[in-house]
Amino acid sequence: MIAIVKQTATPEQLQQFVNWIENRGYRTNVSQGDNETIVGIIGDTTQIDPFLLESMDIIDQVRRVSEPYKLANRKFHPEDTVIDCGHGVLIGGGHFQVMAGPCSVEGDNLIQIARAVKAAGATILRGGAYKPRTSPYAYQGMGERGLDLLLEASAELDMPVITEVMDPRDVQLFVDRGIDIMQIGARNAQNFNLLKEVGKTTTPVLLKRGLSGTIDELLMGAEYIMSEGNPNVILCERGIRTFETRTRNTFDVNAIPVLHHLTHLPVVGDPSHATGYTRYVRQAAYAATAAGADGLEIEVHNCPQEAWSDGAQALVPEQFEDAMKRIALIREAITADVE
Ligand code: PEP
Ligand code: MN
Repeated sequence: MIAIVKQTATPEQLQQFVNWIENRGYRTNVSQGDNETIVGIIGDTTQIDPFLLESMDIIDQVRRVSEPYKLANRKFHPEDTVIDCGHGVLIGGGHFQVMAGPCSVEGDNLIQIARAVKAAGATILRGGAYKPRTSPYAYQGMGERGLDLLLEASAELDMPVITEVMDPRDVQLFVDRGIDIMQIGARNAQNFNLLKEVGKTTTPVLLKRGLSGTIDELLMGAEYIMSEGNPNVILCERGIRTFETRTRNTFDVNAIPVLHHLTHLPVVGDPSHATGYTRYVRQAAYAATAAGADGLEIEVHNCPQEAWSDGAQALVPEQFEDAMKRIALIREAITADVE
């Protein structure tokens, strides 16, 4: 349920109203926008009489919110959420960022790749130190040494880093090490214990859509994180499993505007995992940009033939640089004022 508060309400009146609701055992979420203030009421609101609330002086309107996700719901928070990713980088609400780097951190080539993607305009460095691999025999990642390499590159280039956390027991390590954005991968999109654990921090989290996850399941994953107290959630469309076998996954470009309609959280597109082949990655990146994504996550490798994971979908720095120029043009086109 949401209560829309009148413009004339004073901060004291708003606080009194919030206290009144919370004293009845509900949680609240106050969203103060430029044009309206909304109090989201969380809990079994069937016990609340909307007419009673509407009879209060400061309340303009009361509406029931039927969706099971509340904190992530745009009805609770009409304005886009802008997330501070560290190093002065903001995402969401018109701030567009590109995260780029290798699938896995492999060693000294990380800094070379990082310098190249930064020079091409990437603002966030990606790289997996803990890798979720379908086969237990495949390369599992460098672990903590990988975090060191990411943080060294971050310090040299003054850019935030994003890296995947797979185990709830590692979350504190990621926070202590100062990782800027924790990625929850597609395979862990419904690992609710992991979602709750990252929810107890304030570190931004990029939550990927599950392999066969619906948009609503993705939103409920975000709700798990947010309900623990972490509002800094970025959603990522990375392709879903369908009957199509020509590409690694099927990129659900639709999900980008659909998510923007349903939630205030930033939405990023990952054309690398969505397509699985270098030859298609750029076109999918353009589509995601045109669809209004708040950012992209793209795998880039200096020598894809030698990559320890996902070489088949990596762009080389020259391809990435070319793509970044076109992405900037697409951003201009879709944000331009037209008569
Ligand atoms: C990755 O980003 O390297 C990754 C494993 O992605 P996903 O979880 O989307 O498969
Ligand atoms: Mn990968």
